[in-house]
Amino acid sequence: MTIKIDNTKSWPITFNKPLIIAGPCSAESEDQMLRTAHELKHHENLLFRAGIWKPRTRPNSFEGIGAVGLKWMDIVKKETGLKTTTEVANAQHVEEALKYDIDVFWIGARTTVNPFAVQEIADALKGSNKPIMIKNPINPEVNLWLGAIERFYDAGLTKLAAIHRGFFAYNNTKYRNLPQWQLAIELKRRIPGIPMICDPSHISGNRDLIHEVSQKAIDMNFDGLMIETHINPEKALSDNAQQVTPIELNKILTNLIIRSSETENNEFKSSLKNLRIQIDDLDNELLDVLKRRMNVAEKIGTHKKENGVTILQSARWEELLDSRIQHGVSNGLSEEFMNKLLKAVHQESINRQTRVMND
Ligand code: PEP
Ligand code: MN
Repeated sequence: MTIKIDNTKSWPITFNKPLIIAGPCSAESEDQMLRTAHELKHHENLLFRAGIWKPRTRPNSFEGIGAVGLKWMDIVKKETGLKTTTEVANAQHVEEALKYDIDVFWIGARTTVNPFAVQEIADALKGSNKPIMIKNPINPEVNLWLGAIERFYDAGLTKLAAIHRGFFAYNNTKYRNLPQWQLAIELKRRIPGIPMICDPSHISGNRDLIHEVSQKAIDMNFDGLMIETHINPEKALSDNAQQVTPIELNKILTNLIIRSSETENNEFKSSLKNLRIQIDDLDNELLDVLKRRMNVAEKIGTHKKENGVTILQSARWEELLDSRIQHGVSNGLSEEFMNKLLKAVHQESINRQTRVMND
């Protein structure tokens, strides 16, 4: 399916980079919503967020204030002029949120993983012409993310954006949800033109990391940031460690260095062009060397076949991995990169040898 994303100019807010989405994790009271919103309204181009129904990992946590919060969203909109967004996870949420004319909808990470739920929401939103932001699924599966976007597109909803909020990972200590920038870039490659927003709050799980993650997203040319903002984060009923005050949000935003993806500087353009030519040449060399390496692997395969020897010889592989990693590291390449690279090359060699063996 080819997805053609509508011009983002048709959204109720503009993507003057970066678009800022801020507001509390959860709507808790009318007072909390209004005080937060009044402190945020001076930002140009800010979309006010609040979760009304909260998908919590364990029961007995605060599961959201429910439909009464929609009334507060409406008051926020009327008093401050801010446009509003909330998460919907089923058709009933959609029906209630539409009654209060929520401007933009988002789909949470725990919903994106579930095609039945996504389809139900897409059907309920059909004909509404509302913009929808789709968070990445909990697990790093780009097709699941893409599939959810396709379900909305198929329902005639073409004002779509994606949100990178990180992925669940075992042994993950620094982040609450591990960012996988390559996956977001891959989604953007599969849906050219889709606005990509970063949610540094859910990636970080901790307010001290929000600036660093936001800067990284901006450097990667993301179109917006969703940052949970609460008038009194310490007292928040959900995600209290990762929320910032409106004043802290100001600081984060004013300290962001916004770099342009285009420039009129001709000297810069020509030296960039030169460097890119060098990269093209080096990549060609690299691919030629890889081709030669695979040809040798095939010869080894033939040799093993003729002598009735197995493809994988663990001792040889261990020794190769060790010595190559050492070589790479002494050339300034990281151990992690060397590991990934060698494993990929080794797998391709095994595939080639398997083909030869079974010919
Ligand atoms: C949220 O934005 O408050 C939320 C629940 O996010 P996620 O779906 O990314 O966990
Ligand atoms: Mn949250």
